[in-house]
Amino acid sequence: MDWNVYGHEWAVDLLSSHVAGKRWRQAYLFVGPEGVGRRTLALRFAQALNCTQPPEPGGYCGVCRDCRQIAAMQHPDLSLVVPDEGHQDILIDQIRDLQHTIALAPYASAYRIALLPDFQHVTDQAQNALLKTLEEPPDKVILLLTVNAIERLLPTVISRCEVIRLRPASIGDTQLFLHETRGLEPEQAALIAHLSSGRIGTAIRMAENPEILASRQEGIERFLDLLPAKRYERFKAAEELSKSYDTARTNAVEAISFWLSFWRDVFVRASGTALPLVNVDLAAQVEETAAKLTESSARALVIAHEEALQHLDSNVNVRLLLETLLLKWPQLSVAAISK
Ligand SMILES: [Zn+2]
Repeated sequence: MDWNVYGHEWAVDLLSSHVAGKRWRQAYLFVGPEGVGRRTLALRFAQALNCTQPPEPGGYCGVCRDCRQIAAMQHPDLSLVVPDEGHQDILIDQIRDLQHTIALAPYASAYRIALLPDFQHVTDQAQNALLKTLEEPPDKVILLLTVNAIERLLPTVISRCEVIRLRPASIGDTQLFLHETRGLEPEQAALIAHLSSGRIGTAIRMAENPEILASRQEGIERFLDLLPAKRYERFKAAEELSKSYDTARTNAVEAISFWLSFWRDVFVRASGTALPLVNVDLAAQVEETAAKLTESSARALVIAHEEALQHLDSNVNVRLLLETLLLKWPQLSVAAISK
């Protein structure tokens, strides 16, 4: 079965066999890291369920009205539930609205689909409210949830779903994919394959939006400046990143995510594990830093950055969080990037 999805063949086979055999579950939970293809696969499944002219049982045509509207997430029987503007989480009222909608018979096609992407962003009350639907789903309704970490969900929610775990592609396959489908040169394809860690959706986004790599480049320069910097220079950087209220959080997430990826690479090297580096273009700086740190101090830095990212989800003082984090860094000088 070809669903025009890269990788995840077993999942495509499973889901298309559910459609072809008319023996689907009423709820599916797609688990995997961001950018791995969870939503794409969920939408393909929705297309296969509602396609009016499937080329084969369990397939989807991609051109009928239902297929096109589902791909654009603008289908009258597709309910998309994401946090409201200005909110971090899906709230209970949104689940109640969804329940009213899906209690109605499908309007234009065979099934109503409820898509709840990134369902880790949900309040406990909302999750509990959804549980009622999962326990007694209305006829002709299929719920599709995606989540990056299954631990965020109630066990009772998980147990009501068919769990589809998606893993990233290998670095080599991702590189080949970028070369073949996007025409990237080998070096660029290799860099993006490593940076995306084989998450195809992320790799495509990076290949199609050059500003992502450009802003990473700025991040690298800031990072290498800050590594040997003294306390007051680091405080200045924290102030700079958080000075505008509107962008402080986004800036912080972006900066800390990059720092975390560097410290993870350092930890990989310091611990002698054979995992591939993410920042493959900074291999020299990673090696040099790892040689100056112990495994346990590298691990502590990774944990501190992971915790900082989690704290950014709540209402913290961004500047203070950045300052605290930057004070945990060792003061090191490493070689500049060779161009
Ligand atoms: Zn179709």
